[in-house]
Amino acid sequence: MEALAIRLKPVNVEEWLVAELQNHLKSSFNVKITVERDVSIGSLQAYYDEEREQIRADLLLEDLSKYAQPISLVIVDADAYVPGLNFIFGIARPEWGGIVFLARLKPEYYYMPPDRELLLFRFIKESIHELGHALGLNHCRNAACVMRFSNSIHEVDAKTHRFCVQCSRRLQALHPGLLR
Ligand SMILES: [Zn+2]
Ligand SMILES: [Zn+2]
Repeated sequence: MEALAIRLKPVNVEEWLVAELQNHLKSSFNVKITVERDVSIGSLQAYYDEEREQIRADLLLEDLSKYAQPISLVIVDADAYVPGLNFIFGIARPEWGGIVFLARLKPEYYYMPPDRELLLFRFIKESIHELGHALGLNHCRNAACVMRFSNSIHEVDAKTHRFCVQCSRRLQALHPGLLR
């Protein structure tokens, strides 16, 4: 079996955010973390709903997971939705990977001043959350756990970027040696 790797696939994302995420993941996960720029902004056009000004995330995920290798984390600076939800911060598929959408993680979206640190912290949380799903974790009821479901930016801010003890144990059982 091929060794587990995490492939970051930024589409239209500022370089510093990708570099900071890569560093953070390196300190958390004991696997190779690569950056691959093989998803173009043009290829997302087909999933863009002009009326809603949002990407249809479930269809994009379905198509990406057909050709991108696991574990992939595609990062898009746009807003997104799935049928039945007004918006989502991210989406994942077990054993493949996920997508994180940046638009609603930015303080500016809520008429607050830009704040790089806050944006980065939110981005790290949502990235680890989707990677957690990709690696086999479900949502968690622990209020501090990164696997807690976030339905609003307040809920993103309220949780931490860490797996709780239970989720860490489960990850450890599924992927021995993965967590540092
Ligand atoms: Zn989730
Ligand atoms: Zn947990």
